[in-house]
This record gives sequence, structure tokens and C-alpha cells, in this order.
Amino acid sequence: MAESKLNFIAGQWIAGEGEIENRNPSDVSDVIGNFAQASAGQLDAALEKARDAQRIWAGYGLERRQAVLQAIGTELISRSEELGTLLSREEGKPLAEGKGEIYRAGQFFTYYAAECLRQLGENADSVRDGIEIDVRREPVGVVAIISPWNFPTATASWKIAPALCYGNAVVWKPANITPASAVALTEIIARQDIPEGLFSLVMGSGRSVGQRLVESPGVNAISFTGSVPVGRGIATAAVGNFTKVQLEMGSKNALAVMDDADIDLAVTVALGGAFGGTGQKCTASSRLVVHEAIHDAFVEKLVAGAQAMTVGHALEAGTQIGPVVSEAQLLENLGYVDLGKSEGAELACGGERLSLSHDGYYMSPGVFLNTTNDMRINREEMFAPLTSVMRVGSYDEALSVVNDTSFGLTSGIVTRSLARAAHFRRNARTGVVTVNLPTAGTDYHVPFGGRGESSYGPREQGRAAAEFYTTVKTAYISAGAPE
Ligand code: NDP
Repeated sequence: MAESKLNFIAGQWIAGEGEIENRNPSDVSDVIGNFAQASAGQLDAALEKARDAQRIWAGYGLERRQAVLQAIGTELISRSEELGTLLSREEGKPLAEGKGEIYRAGQFFTYYAAECLRQLGENADSVRDGIEIDVRREPVGVVAIISPWNFPTATASWKIAPALCYGNAVVWKPANITPASAVALTEIIARQDIPEGLFSLVMGSGRSVGQRLVESPGVNAISFTGSVPVGRGIATAAVGNFTKVQLEMGSKNALAVMDDADIDLAVTVALGGAFGGTGQKCTASSRLVVHEAIHDAFVEKLVAGAQAMTVGHALEAGTQIGPVVSEAQLLENLGYVDLGKSEGAELACGGERLSLSHDGYYMSPGVFLNTTNDMRINREEMFAPLTSVMRVGSYDEALSVVNDTSFGLTSGIVTRSLARAAHFRRNARTGVVTVNLPTAGTDYHVPFGGRGESSYGPREQGRAAAEFYTTVKTAYISAGAPE
């Protein structure tokens, strides 16, 4: 009998109104555990308790808050091997990526631990004589965090850490497909010196618990990462309550490979960007925009590189690409392979379900050639180990194709030309631009977010996070004259 894992609600570990089973996508015979599903009443209790706890937490001294975040970060970093193994087991990313994710999650907490002590305001003289103005940030209140499965610990951490740093309470609904990583992180947070109810974990489906959470007037801010349709629904619910909202959604990131590129570097960058995390990244390089002068040489190496990648069990040594997260995602991916072919794209390699020694959701990395930017495979986020090559005749055409998308999270260029790199950096219409680097892979101390349908609301990470997790207060002080 698999172990039952509980929700952490209003300071108590409690069973829900039901449970879901969590299985390993690398080996579906491996049951990771059963996970409680919160009831509507439990969610409401979490929100009510969070309100009181937030006031107590905001009244803690800065060093006391800093110590809590530092302890969470240090523990994540020191347990990255163990927790990374759990993460890879339930999500399917290769172990090195799982461990790296936990380590990075720890860094979010240690970064925001330090930020607790760096919350400086502004001051100004009034336009009226004898009056001074003090501008400072205060906590926004109770924050609902809704996180996805593809980075189950890192994405949640880059929301939870700043939320706590800036004095807020958190009610966290993780993706139901990766609950084990959520429980592991919650166990660490729950042991800290925090007021009862400051942090609650409410596992449950998006349609029930998630929807109730985003519709609740007891929530002051919602931070979400996931798909565009769900994000749109959350924005609508948030506006109805005048709740602050921040959405990070899909993308269709392009990597431009220029005729002056180092081809081997370009291939490495493209393979890493397209197939890292099994292509299940909002920053994945799913459109490769390649100058015709080097197109054939690049494609030959790209396809050979994709074919040489080892697909396997996430926890086995040598695996470069793990399984996709679920049967539903695999079927959707295979549907996109059929769609691409029906649109006239040439599938040069991969894009097939693989049967390996373990029964899992394995798929070979696929490369489409001779694609055009109006094909649906180049317009819709596939979240799959699939990438498309488009041939262009000039830098200007490449830039125009890169920008021809409804999304706008990341874009990259591989070039030796300083002029093109500089022009691209200024003119690519994305929130993140990379030069001679994959479109995926960002730092924690600088802003992250996109344009168009990729993001809505203030940027995440770094100091930019303060914009979302705080509200500004402007105080006017007339001290009078000394006696
Ligand atoms: P969703 O947008 O459905 O899920 C993201 C999170 O939102 C999960 O925690 C989910 O809960 C929750 N959720 C779902 N419905 C609601 C709702 N009505 N109200 C509140 N919360 C809700 O993404 P999927 O996991 O279904 O993935 C589908 C596609 O979304 C992917 O193929 C990919 O294209 C994109 N995606 C993009 C991500 C990114 O990083 N930008 C991350 C994940 C997905 P639950 O899972 O329990 O239903």
C-alpha cells in the first residue's frame, strides 16, 4: 500500500476529501504515493488562517524573517541529491536536471533571505514647505500561488521565496501531477519559525481547488505559471475581485542561427534549448530560424545530434532525455507530429513513441524541416521534444520571423557579428534575449517574464518581484518646528 501524503492547512497536516495516486512517468509500475485532495472547506480555512498569520509574520523582525528563508534555502541545497531524485522520479527529467532544479530552488530562498535586509524605501521633499515624503513598500497580504509540473520545485520557489520575503502569507496549489515535490518543500517550510497558517499547501485539481482559490475574495494576489487558457480564466476571475495578478504562460521561442555562426556551437545551443527537460519548458527553442547559407550543414549536424541523444529512465545514468510527463501529454505530442506532417513539414527524425525496458511515456526527439512560420506547429506551444527548422535568406528576415508570434518569452541568436547581436538584443520582441546561448536557462537575481501571450503583470524574480509582492505606501510628514 502506497504511503498517503497530507495537505498542510492552517498549520496542520490533514487528510483531504479524497486522494490521487502519483506514478513515475519513467516506469508506470512505480507508485510514488497517494496525495490528499483538499476540500472547499479546507481551502477556505487555509485562507482565513493565512490572514491572521500574515499580520504576525509582517511584524517579525527582519533578521527573523531572513533566518527562515536562509534555513529553507540551505536545507534545499544540502538535500538536492535526495530531493532531486524524488523530483526526477515523479516529473521525468534526467537526474542531473532534477538535482539542479532543487539546488536552484534553494538559491531562490537564499537570494530572497538576503533581500529581506535590503528593503529600502525612498524619500522626497514635498512641494509644500515643511513636509517630507516617505515612500515604502508593504506586504500585499495573502498570496495564492498556482504552479506547474514542469519545474515543480523551482517555479514554486521563485514565487514562495519573494512572497515570504516581502511579508506575505502563502496558499500554494501545486500541479496535481507532481505533488511529491510539493509535499517535500512544504515539509521543510512547515518546520521553520513561522506563524501557524502562514503557509498552506492545498493539493487538489486545478478545476476545483484552483478555481475556488483564484475566485476567492480572501486572496490579495495570484501568481500563476501554466497554460494560456487557464491563465486567461485566472485573469478574468482576478479582475472580478480586483485581485492583483501575475501570469507566466506559454511561448514559441525562436533561435536565429546566422550564416556567420559557429555551427557546432549553434547545434549544441539548439539541441540543449529544444530538448532539455524533454522540451517541456516555456523557454524551449521550438523554432530554429536558420540562414540558408549554412542551413544544410546545420541541419545535418542537428539531426545527427538529435538521433544520438539517449532517451531513457530519468534516474538511469546516461539518460539525456527522460519521458514526457504523462500519457495525455505524450498523446498530444504525437498529435502534433501528425499535424506537422499534414501541414507539409518533413519529419527528419524522431517524433515517435518508444518502447523501452521500463513502461513509461518515452518519445524520441523530433526535428521538422522545411517548415513555415504560418504552420500551427510553429504557432502553438507544443511542450514536447519537437523542434522546427525554418530557412531564411537574411538577418532581417530572421528577425521578422522571430518576432512573428503571439508569444514573446525568450529568443536567441547565434552569430559572431557584434552588430547583429546588438541589433537583435534591441529589436527582438521578447522579455528575455540570449546571444550564443540557448533560449532556456535564466538566472535568479534578474527579472524574468515575457510579452504578448507569454506573460501578464509584473515581472518575476530578482528585485523586480517586489513590484508584485508589495504595495506602495506614500506618507506625508509635517514634523513642525523644534521648540
Ligand atoms: P495548466 O495551465 O492546466 O496547469 C497549470 C496549473 O494551473 C496547475 O497547477 C493546474 O492544476 C492549475 N489549474 C488548472 N486549471 C485551473 C483553474 N481553472 N484554476 C486555477 N488553477 C488551475 O497546464 P497543464 O498542466 O494542463 O499543461 C497544459 C499545457 O500548458 C502544456 O502542454 C503547456 O503547453 C502549458 N504549460 C506551460 C507551462 C509554462 O511553464 N509556461 C507550465 C505548464 C504547462 P492541475 O495540474 O492540478 O490541474
